[in-house]
Amino acid sequence: MSATPAGASATAAGQARWQAEKEAVLATARTMYAKGLVEGTAGNVSALTADGHVCLTPSSVSYDTMGLEDLVVMDTEGNVVEGTRSPTSEKDLHLACYRSLPNVGGVIHSHPLYASMFACARQPIPAAIEEFVVFVGGEVPVCEYTMTGTAALGEEAVRNLADTSAALLASHGMISIGNTPDQALHVALVVERTAQVVHGARSLGGEHRLPDKTVSDFEGVYRYLRALPPS
Ligand SMILES: [Zn+2]
Repeated sequence: MSATPAGASATAAGQARWQAEKEAVLATARTMYAKGLVEGTAGNVSALTADGHVCLTPSSVSYDTMGLEDLVVMDTEGNVVEGTRSPTSEKDLHLACYRSLPNVGGVIHSHPLYASMFACARQPIPAAIEEFVVFVGGEVPVCEYTMTGTAALGEEAVRNLADTSAALLASHGMISIGNTPDQALHVALVVERTAQVVHGARSLGGEHRLPDKTVSDFEGVYRYLRALPPS
């Protein structure tokens, strides 16, 4: 996150605490909605703040009318520290990522059409495109079915996000992570586009595997990018 100072000095300067993180979450949530990755009030976005809190979108608020004041700030144990709205019902999914995965600065849960088809069929999305390996890390795995809104879903997602930046939630949708919320959104868009391409390629006889050398080289780029700290 950019260096918005927290606390009294920032307040005295007229800028609310966690302003930059809130703006990043709201902008990413609106783009997620505009890009069609969710319908209605579904999906949710969060960011790790510079001082180790988590800023999340609220439950059941339209993206068209959502404002900075609707966002909720929690500690990583799940206690609300600011906000009057209820946090997203998938808060445990987000908090588990920040607690258990290094260098995560943004998390997005979305319901993209083609990725959700793979999630419902419980089939992984193969790394069929070079760019996919660079940004996602490799084949997107499918989590064991776990009911939405539970802490167990967070644990299962974390288990599947050890080596990739996206995972499919069986019979549900997708979770993606990044150094920032914007990067987590980029991952979601790359995964959704690849899911659509693979779906089409299979109607033409099926996708080809990338050469092992290409995969290993691009996995190296991915590991470098994933090791960068939240920004
Ligand atoms: Zn969902």
